Amino acid sequence: MLALPLAAAQQGGRQELSNANVLIAFDSAGNLAELTNRQTGHSYVTSAGQPPWRMYYRFGTPRDGALDLEIDPAVQTGQVRREGGGLVIAYKSLKATVPKRGETREIQVGLEVRVTLDGDRLTWTGRITNRETDPRLQITELWIPWIYGIGDMGLGRATDVLYWPERAGRRIQDPYTKMISAPAPANAPGRRGEASLRLTYPFPASMQWYTFNNGEEGVYVGSHDKTLMTTCLNVMAHPDKAISASIVKYPFVKIGETWTSEPVVVRLYRGDWHVAAKTYRAWADTWMERTKPPEWLRRMPGWVLPSFKSQTGHISGSYADLPGIYKEAKAAGINLLNVFGWVKQGFDNLYPEYDPDEAMGGAAGLKAALAEVKREGGHTILYTQGQLIDPSTEYYRKEGYRQTAIDIWGAEYRESYGGTGQGTLLNVMRNKYFGIACPGAKGWIEHLEWQLGLVQGLGAQGIIFDQMGGIPPYICYSKDHPHSKPSLAVGPAKVQNMKRLRQVMKARDPEFIFVIELGTDCYAGLVDITHSHGIGFWPEPEAFGEMLRYTFPEPLITNRGGGPYDRRTQLGHAFAIGWRFDSNLRDTRDPSLGPFFTRLCALRNTHPDLLLDGRFVDNEGFLADNCRVSAHSFVAGNRMAVTLWNPGDTAERVNVIAPGYELEKAEWQDPKWTGLSHSIAPKDVAVLIFRRR
Ligand SMILES: [Zn+2]
Repeated sequence: MLALPLAAAQQGGRQELSNANVLIAFDSAGNLAELTNRQTGHSYVTSAGQPPWRMYYRFGTPRDGALDLEIDPAVQTGQVRREGGGLVIAYKSLKATVPKRGETREIQVGLEVRVTLDGDRLTWTGRITNRETDPRLQITELWIPWIYGIGDMGLGRATDVLYWPERAGRRIQDPYTKMISAPAPANAPGRRGEASLRLTYPFPASMQWYTFNNGEEGVYVGSHDKTLMTTCLNVMAHPDKAISASIVKYPFVKIGETWTSEPVVVRLYRGDWHVAAKTYRAWADTWMERTKPPEWLRRMPGWVLPSFKSQTGHISGSYADLPGIYKEAKAAGINLLNVFGWVKQGFDNLYPEYDPDEAMGGAAGLKAALAEVKREGGHTILYTQGQLIDPSTEYYRKEGYRQTAIDIWGAEYRESYGGTGQGTLLNVMRNKYFGIACPGAKGWIEHLEWQLGLVQGLGAQGIIFDQMGGIPPYICYSKDHPHSKPSLAVGPAKVQNMKRLRQVMKARDPEFIFVIELGTDCYAGLVDITHSHGIGFWPEPEAFGEMLRYTFPEPLITNRGGGPYDRRTQLGHAFAIGWRFDSNLRDTRDPSLGPFFTRLCALRNTHPDLLLDGRFVDNEGFLADNCRVSAHSFVAGNRMAVTLWNPGDTAERVNVIAPGYELEKAEWQDPKWTGLSHSIAPKDVAVLIFRRR
């Protein structure tokens, strides 16, 4: 890319930062005046300017102050200066609202927003200096940057797409119209009645970036924050036809403290959304870990998930059934069982206490069953929870109460899972509540290690820690836990815990597998396989699993049942994208679905080097002429597989051209069919295997 000298011009108080790629300008008060992609000539900011930040603070508690008080950027007096090739918008002190509505006061808190330009990238940081003396005053929240006034990407609003990292990904066409036409109810959690899209990271955002793109150009917004501070991705639609885009940090800047944010990169690029994905991936490669799962797991099409004992104590099988279940799974092409509900406490009950159940065969019966599956060539995973603590347990009374995450009011966060009773007593009166372990709290990792030891001692070949990858990154206000800030309670501690668990389990057995639930980039590289949940892991109209899958093709991640479509569509979608199958005996036993599922597994087992262990490259390397057929490529060495999936209700014919490749094998519905073009039955799949010429 051509690097021209930066120009920081001053015209009537206007300050610019520009090169051949980008022009950004502020007026003398620090309001964003222009944001232009000079490669295409399109100016993205079309509404009246605002300063590029927002801020909130707390003053004590509602007893003596208030939470969530605004520091309105529009009423501040800022100065823009050039420094070190960038621009700095500086405020010596700030005018802040006070608990009594309509009143403000000057607070001795300084803010500097710094933006630099390199190629087509703007890098933003914020620095907050809290010079107040009353410890009740803490800066809780900074939006850095807050880019207000975005119109469209140059081809009109209808062409714009927001690629949004909700779970595996959501593709939102014309995001302004979608948001403004469906603002949240005023009482919707996290929405305040505003027309907005908001996600916390790590999880339910699987990555900390998003992009607006029209197929030709776009804006990448990426939080390049290795600290894994709990972060909010925030896009809003405003009544003046403007979108705002921001990254929100929760720094909790105390008196006497100066805090500088990690960089947020805003890139004005040419090309489609893949350019944005590569931008984030290049940053992730500078620090995120990548594990290499054992080969037996990499070549596994999925797992079958039996569950024996429910939350309410109903038992639907015993350990002695496991070898028979394994035989059924194997007949369908799967040789991994992920065993839920194996504890006498029942599934989703009395966590984190786990004991084999005498009624299902006891510890000896479980060991014998797991050993028999292993002898037959199979593998087993045993379920444990990764973070819930049931307040009705002995564990909670002895030490769990010291480990639970604490909310801003000083009470324990609670999550509820249940409501599955057969009558109405438990079904309607949803009454099962859990505390959530703060991952860094003293003693918690030792307990997770105990769970690991129990499962390894029983002879399974893997352990799942349910929910460990997510739900959500609780900001923990406990003063007794070791985290330095409430917003650093989860991400960094989970990474530490996972590294330790991994080290312990692999030291005992390198082939033993580490499984967590919930897909998030910063954890996915520390474990062997992730059990997913949510949009993109299942199909729905806006589902766009390609976003996570293309950015991070290496982690093994399962699909998950859910969404508006039937099971056959879910499995076809998982096959097309390359998610491992999260399957169960209903799939294998169903007379119409069973043969389809078996065929999908057979295709994966026939071409594991490409369909399982190959690199997902989305739409690279080939052209397909029918957009009603979902087509994706996987590469390994000099070979490429293209999966074709017809999610529709009518047969579709598709022609595939792969320049530089020759066809090696075609797997159409009819094994006798050969060649590059055939029709695909509704909800069916095909695979083309190519070799480079
Ligand atoms: Zn905590």
